[in-house]
Amino acid sequence: MLLPRERYWAWARACSQYVQTYALNLTSDPVGAASYMSPGQVVTFPNIPDAHPEQGDLVEWFEANYPGIRIDPVLADSPQAFTDKLQTRLDAQDRYGQRQRPFYLLWPTNYPVITQKFGANPQIYTRFGMPGHEGLDIRALPYTDIYSCADGVVYEVHTNSKDHAYGIHVRIRHQFGYRTVYGHLAKPLVRLGQQVAEGEVIGKADSSGASTASHLHLSLKQDGATARKETNYPKDIIDPTPLMVWPDSSRAKQLHSGAWPAGKCLVGLHHEAGSSLTDEEIHVLVSTRIEALKIGLAESSDAIASLLSRIPGILLVIRLTMDLSGDSVGPRGDSSDMSRLTPVVFMMPGFVSSRCTQTQIFSPVVGEEAGVMVQVSPNGSCR
Ligand SMILES: [Zn+2]
Repeated sequence: MLLPRERYWAWARACSQYVQTYALNLTSDPVGAASYMSPGQVVTFPNIPDAHPEQGDLVEWFEANYPGIRIDPVLADSPQAFTDKLQTRLDAQDRYGQRQRPFYLLWPTNYPVITQKFGANPQIYTRFGMPGHEGLDIRALPYTDIYSCADGVVYEVHTNSKDHAYGIHVRIRHQFGYRTVYGHLAKPLVRLGQQVAEGEVIGKADSSGASTASHLHLSLKQDGATARKETNYPKDIIDPTPLMVWPDSSRAKQLHSGAWPAGKCLVGLHHEAGSSLTDEEIHVLVSTRIEALKIGLAESSDAIASLLSRIPGILLVIRLTMDLSGDSVGPRGDSSDMSRLTPVVFMMPGFVSSRCTQTQIFSPVVGEEAGVMVQVSPNGSCR
């Protein structure tokens, strides 16, 4: 959640219910919000003019500078309007307000990460008669669940992994002439003609067919789209991206359960870098029952002691960014540079991949011993 600098705490209070429901972090720094994103996170912000004069229009700024980031601007010109808009979402259990559309696609895997976008890599796909990648590749580790994006009827179950680029795959027909294709499965869990509901498990993920590593290839088609010239793809293929409902992190949480139990997420805040915690801020932290606080390396020990005396159980998090390529991280976080920051280093799984040279390390200064969890999951993609 990215909030205006001006009247920051008023905006923070305005979204407190939403923040606690979805366990979000808050910041007033657009660069920070954009730079330290976990893949698949979404930046929600009240879309008001001049909230961040250096960036100007935030939607344009994010799109120009951080095109991979998913943004969720909320039209609200005051903290009260912001509260009202978010309350509507909370009442509908519709985190990003996306389900009010007539047709949408639920996230089909447990992993909120796109590994290859629609239209990417035309140099590869023109050979196959496509202007670019003809769907979305979405992270899915081997044998994890694949879910139907919408209600529908299964119209094809392909069980031969060798004779099709999608390998073992399932096709589902939905309302409004939409069809979805789920490629590279380990096995289908539905049969031809079966009715499925949105979110129902339809198969297990893998890397069958033309695939570099386990992932889901999702294609969307709409009957007649190619003939009507609504798409420059053959076979009625259209871009699913605008219809995707970004996953709320509840499924992701179960996976990222390295430090605390599945389903338990801490309510956290970012503290502004470069300034020390004031008494007033500590008072707000106490009154809003904040469970975790991200602080800068330079935070004074007096302020930390004062905070800990008021909220003894709070989890303090320091984020470092360092080059870990070629470094090995032991089960206690005993990588040389990190040892001075232990007692415990908690590394957010999902940040680390075999191809990353930079990673973010979270170091709880206080809290239960977590150990280090490193998940290396290469980003699979088609072909
Ligand atoms: Zn693909």
